[in-house]
Amino acid sequence: MKYVLVTGGVVSGLGKGVTASSIGVVLKACGLRVTSIKIDPYLNTDAGTMSPFEHGEVFVLDDGGEVDLDLGNYERFLDVTLTRDNNITTGKIYQSVLEKERRGDYLGKTVQVVPHITDAIKTWIESVSVIPVDGKEGPADVCVIELGGTVGDIESMPFIEALRQLSFSVGQENFCLIHVSLIPVLGVVGEQKTKPTQHSVRELRALGLTPHLLACRSAENQNAHHSILQQLNLLSIARPPDLRDWTKMAETYDNLTNSVRIAMVGKYVGLADSYLSVVKALLHACVACSLKPSIDWIAASDLEDDSAKLIPEAHAAAWGTLKNAACVLVPGGFGDRGVRGMILAAKYARENNVPYLGICLGMQISVIEFARSVLGLERADSTEFDAQTPNPVVIFMPEGSRTHMGSTMRLGSRRTLFQAPDCTTSKLYHNSEYVDERHRHRYEVNPDVIGVLEEAGLKFVGKDDSGRRMEILELPSHPFYVGVQFHPEFKSRPGRPSPLFLGLILAATGQLETYLDQNQNSS
Ligand code: GLN
Repeated sequence: MKYVLVTGGVVSGLGKGVTASSIGVVLKACGLRVTSIKIDPYLNTDAGTMSPFEHGEVFVLDDGGEVDLDLGNYERFLDVTLTRDNNITTGKIYQSVLEKERRGDYLGKTVQVVPHITDAIKTWIESVSVIPVDGKEGPADVCVIELGGTVGDIESMPFIEALRQLSFSVGQENFCLIHVSLIPVLGVVGEQKTKPTQHSVRELRALGLTPHLLACRSAENQNAHHSILQQLNLLSIARPPDLRDWTKMAETYDNLTNSVRIAMVGKYVGLADSYLSVVKALLHACVACSLKPSIDWIAASDLEDDSAKLIPEAHAAAWGTLKNAACVLVPGGFGDRGVRGMILAAKYARENNVPYLGICLGMQISVIEFARSVLGLERADSTEFDAQTPNPVVIFMPEGSRTHMGSTMRLGSRRTLFQAPDCTTSKLYHNSEYVDERHRHRYEVNPDVIGVLEEAGLKFVGKDDSGRRMEILELPSHPFYVGVQFHPEFKSRPGRPSPLFLGLILAATGQLETYLDQNQNSS
């Protein structure tokens, strides 16, 4: 196995993740098979308990791993399917070492950071790097490892030491260290200053690691792949990079002139990172339709009646934006903040024939709205927001334990069976009988209310194999009103957009019917 390690210096937020993913893309374009590992030196065992406000979106993998959003970048850039073990955290490492200690596996020895923690890190990296992630058999040629944080942080010291040891054990020609650093530009003349980078390289060297390449922001093409391949002794087997698809996609994007307005009505609208995969999935779908996405973020609470009195300008602006949009998307979320506003947005979309896609919470919202407005059940609710509601239309339906927060979620890839071949979503999924998508939720549509909802016109066109879990809803009387209990955004790829996002954008621009007809004829 050849390793490319990407570290960061001076400040965070320089784009280590994008640098590491891009290196992976270029190596893949040279004909090599690439996998990746992200190291997060925090004590949380995984990202599942971390707030999207603070840490950006929690990305969900097929195996149910709740991981750092950088793994989403790797899956999208490299078109791979990663495992939860591809995200290493300090918490996971310590947990594994402490479990061994409790079992008595250390045979009475004193358990220490060096060598026990560092050995655990090395073993983890070596065993995860050989897991095939690209659908082919056998290990990849190159494993790109991104070390989170900044060199010099106390948190990352055991990882640096483990990686130093790894660099020795695998040997010179199997290890390439790329250090991403900052070159600040000072003063009116705009002089580039290298001193902070010099210090950070010195810090790395003091810890026993010497970078082979420095990645600093620059506009020049310097053929970095050549230096990396040379360091890894791969020049003889690699071909010149073939980046035609990527270049074409980037050029298409740069030359798009028409845009489509998408209203995103959510709780965490201040930070695009909180919904990163949704934003990327919209981008993939829009580019496929030769459109530029123009995402209007609406804080759901601004739509609520209360805000009309408290913050009338924000209320008016939010409604103005919503009414200007060609489609509405309500993404996933937890907790009751903004829920009333989301219900108003779903109602507006339903009543005005505006294309609507509700994801996870967004699907639950549309069921609550429908029950209230159409069935006249004014207090219909999810038991997540009102435990005492007389009409629980969305209820707690855990797969695992009912008492332990950590294991009550329905997580990862699950199968949805289409109930009717002629529904819009099944057509969008190329008339497949089923679809496997990723989940992350505790609540679901109450199976006891399906009958009345369906009679009133809301159809549940996708269910799990037990028939008890509602996965996809549609409103056939509406041009495009779709709710899904899963998160289609996690499996969307550049050049291969998620069918549901594509459906939303096609509907928003009046192209859905033509597309479905063509699809029908070609299949
Ligand atoms: N809070 C809801 C649930 O747990 C929705 C979760 C989500 O949107 N990811 O079911």
